[in-house]
Amino acid sequence: MGESTQVGLNAGDEDYTECAVCHYFCHLGGLVCKCNPTRAACFEHAEHICECPLTKRTLFYRFTLQQVP
Ligand SMILES: [Zn+2]
Ligand SMILES: [Zn+2]
Repeated sequence: MGESTQVGLNAGDEDYTECAVCHYFCHLGGLVCKCNPTRAACFEHAEHICECPLTKRTLFYRFTLQQVP
């Protein structure tokens, strides 16, 4: 019943999801640190965005799962 095709990402979120280290677009998700919530990093560079212990990092995910109607 009804197919949902979701292509692309929501506009306006881009700046939050670019890795501050490699500038790769973290379209699947990444990490932010509590010391600077506007600075995101991809999973690979999570430990390079700042010098806080890893326990301060927060994972976020942004996969677009199929929305339930
Ligand atoms: Zn990166
Ligand atoms: Zn930090």
